Amino acid sequence: MQFIDLHRQRERIKVDIEVRIQTVLSHGKFILGPEIQELEQKLADFAGVPHCITCSSGSDALLMALMAWGIGPGDAVYTTPFTFIATAEVVALLGATPVFVDIDPKTYNIDPHLLETAVEQTERENKLRPRAVITVDLFGLPADYGAIEEIARRRSLPVLEDAAQSFGASVNGRRTCSFGTAAATSFFPAKPLGCYGDGGAVFVHDDALAAELRSIRVHGQGSNKYDNVRLGINGRFDTLQAAVVLAKLSVFPDEIEKRNRIARTYSEKLGTAVTVPHVPQGYESVWAQYSVLSRNADHRSELQEKLKKEGVPTAVYYPKPLHLQPAFKNLSYSEGDFPVSEDVSSRIFSLPMHPYLTDDEIDTICRSIAG
Ligand SMILES: *Cc1c(COP(=O)(O)O)cnc(C)c1O
Repeated sequence: MQFIDLHRQRERIKVDIEVRIQTVLSHGKFILGPEIQELEQKLADFAGVPHCITCSSGSDALLMALMAWGIGPGDAVYTTPFTFIATAEVVALLGATPVFVDIDPKTYNIDPHLLETAVEQTERENKLRPRAVITVDLFGLPADYGAIEEIARRRSLPVLEDAAQSFGASVNGRRTCSFGTAAATSFFPAKPLGCYGDGGAVFVHDDALAAELRSIRVHGQGSNKYDNVRLGINGRFDTLQAAVVLAKLSVFPDEIEKRNRIARTYSEKLGTAVTVPHVPQGYESVWAQYSVLSRNADHRSELQEKLKKEGVPTAVYYPKPLHLQPAFKNLSYSEGDFPVSEDVSSRIFSLPMHPYLTDDEIDTICRSIAG
């Protein structure tokens, strides 16, 4: 059994992928070819926003958005410590300061009340300037945008939605990548909508911001390649990879349904043995991960060991919150600063999750845990 089985997906869309790749090989426009434009239009329509700018990775998508806002030294950017390193790394790469805010114990997403407290504290201390918020839709579940967008509006802070794990999820019918001022997603192969390499996209509502991002994506180009009006990066998405995402997009709505059906089965069968994921009213997750909470670290090891004996792979996202990572030791955080993130890190683990899990496989997994 595989944790994320991409072979089964490929079996389904093999012909479409091969035809689309052949088309790219024939027209030869490997850089920003026609598939890029087609994909950007389709992704923007899917998310319900006017602009999608594809790029080289989810990390670069985050970076490009912060660059467009001119984030730099002296700026405080608020985010959660319970996420993948990239979310906070891009902030530090620009010389700005990640300010961590603990998570909600049920959704594992940034706690809006604590966000407000953190911004107030920055203002009191008067060393950094509050500049932006990066929310993370962890494991595919959108953050609490109702509360976060309200706080951000009151304080004139742009919100960057890190939707690397949540493309395709929604809140009351509104899809992810439409929240905040800008959103970033990733097409890393293991994400819900992946390609066969690295890739990502930024989504924005504002026309001028979209134009800036397109410029940043190609070394800050102006009217042409050798007119450089700002600093940018080589952040383009490959045409070949766009062809792969286009093929996958055609089965994506069905895959989202399948993921949700599997998650429901897991939750029905596992609810008494472990703490299953909480999905607030009106929210639909896209289940980048199906993660459960064990009682404590020993219980987690015991369950992971049991599953391993049955041939079931598991993973821990994330074993160490970012405020305790050596890479951020200059921020001078210590153990105990974010108790919810630390507690969850010590007890959480993820089960195999992809649209092509069979009933037998789900049964094996659930019996190993709850049997
Ligand atoms: C995967 C991921 C990223 C980075 O995406 P890449 O395409 O791997 O650069 C950023 N944030 C979160 C929350 C992620 O899960």
